Amino acid sequence: MTTAENLSEKVRDFIASPRKMLINGKWTDAASGKTFETLDPSTGESIVQVAEGDREDVNRAVAAARTAFEDSPWSRMAPSAREKIMHRLADLMEENADVLAELEALDNGKNVAVARAVDVQLAIDYMRYMAGWPTKIGGDILPMSVPYAPDAKFMGYTLKEPVGVVGQIIPWNFPALMASWKLSPALASGCTVVLKPAEETPLTALYIGELICQAGFPEGVVNIIPGYGHTAGAALTEHEDVDKIAFTGSTTVGKIIVKAAADTMKNVSMELGGKSPAIILPDADLDIAIPGAASAIFFNMGQVCCAGSRLFVPDNLYDKVIDGLANEANNMKIGPGLNPENMINPLVSQIQFDRVMSYIDSGRGEGAEVIAGGGRSGDTGYFVEPTVLAKTTRDMKVVQEEIFGPVVCVQRYGDVSEIPALANDTVYGLGASIWTRDVGNIINIVPKIKSGSVWVNCHSILDAVMPFGGYKQSGYGKDMGKEALDSYLETKAVCIMA
Ligand code: NAP
Ligand code: MG
Repeated sequence: MTTAENLSEKVRDFIASPRKMLINGKWTDAASGKTFETLDPSTGESIVQVAEGDREDVNRAVAAARTAFEDSPWSRMAPSAREKIMHRLADLMEENADVLAELEALDNGKNVAVARAVDVQLAIDYMRYMAGWPTKIGGDILPMSVPYAPDAKFMGYTLKEPVGVVGQIIPWNFPALMASWKLSPALASGCTVVLKPAEETPLTALYIGELICQAGFPEGVVNIIPGYGHTAGAALTEHEDVDKIAFTGSTTVGKIIVKAAADTMKNVSMELGGKSPAIILPDADLDIAIPGAASAIFFNMGQVCCAGSRLFVPDNLYDKVIDGLANEANNMKIGPGLNPENMINPLVSQIQFDRVMSYIDSGRGEGAEVIAGGGRSGDTGYFVEPTVLAKTTRDMKVVQEEIFGPVVCVQRYGDVSEIPALANDTVYGLGASIWTRDVGNIINIVPKIKSGSVWVNCHSILDAVMPFGGYKQSGYGKDMGKEALDSYLETKAVCIMA
């Protein structure tokens, strides 16, 4: 049991006994009877045992989702009735927002106040935003000509229909938010779902499952199977009766899933990794750009798919920016996320800790200069100091590969004309930021950056209305915004001859 103190009564209750999986509206043990531990990353201690889903559980969940899709009223329900249930879920999430934030901080390690203000609030906002869509999803009436049947009259129209049973696989960095990113558009479209949260952080998805049961969804519309990727996740991606896989995670696993899904020609959407540039232009306001570049990488300990992990600085500002950035890094308070004053919290797991530390060693080995951080903090939990690597160059492993930790690689440049090539110099294309006061720079540079999001004088700003997703090996399909609906809907063309 975790030693975390001062937990609210609701959170204590929730972790007082092993958590089960949600299949067909009922909380059930794994068919194998197996459980796994979820850990508190600030201590490495167990929080609670969780049912470990595998192929048999996935089979049962998919069968429930299929029955719900074909026979329950969900996909044929009046759109306004579907909206009402989704709004009820958003209301319940709002009422329980503090509980969700606390559970997130406990399970993932992150700052509880940030989890409340950012992760959980965005999760609620997006559920609410999508709750407004069912009454607005419609097709078109199309003016048909049919040149080879000039004497007949035709009417053409399109119907938007839910894709069907959707398997959703999500990562551990924003567990509640990722659950909402996936569930909200699927539910708005009328799909039914089997969701597999990350093994490291199953708790907030399971808590949202409790709220789903209270909100009035028909049984089997949402099924939640905690478990491991190579077992439960693989069973979901290979399942013949799953129509679509929506995945957020690493590019490496994304490629495995696309290949597995190809056998049954599933619709897939992929939100994958990144190595996003933050680009300070010579005219930038450094009072904004330096703290902005720091938060672009250190927010959520760099465990952000669009983190500004490559920082580009012009020669004439280099020393000033490096000093300012080191100062920001050295002044961040490090400690457990349940204390809201601690802005640098543990990484999610021992595996991530080891991975990030080995990248820092690799950077040193390849000649990068450690200007701040570079080591472990404390001797329990998975704390890594916010780290600034200077004198990095394009060919270094730390510059090309996603570290997914609080490590920024600073590169210098001479002329603004070099920017597009530098920004696009990885296999990824998820996000980018430019820091400038010159609108001409914005107009010229934004179209040349190959990434799904570009922020100007800010970084990683997300909102329910803004579509989010990658170019290149950062994936395809969008989360958030109305674009997220596209991949959960089929378009049926209907032609009537008069
Ligand atoms: P990951 O290792 O790719 O895991 C993501 C999810 O996939 C987990 O639920 C995992 O299960 C599951 N999985 C692993 N192997 C699988 C397999 N063979 N078949 C089916 N599912 C499988 O990624 P992560 O380390 O959790 O998350 C970090 C990565 O996610 C980073 O690369 C980051 O950039 C990316 N990310 C992208 C976005 C975006 O929107 N583009 C957002 C957040 C994160 P387990 O529970 O066993 O791990
Ligand atoms: Mg955990």
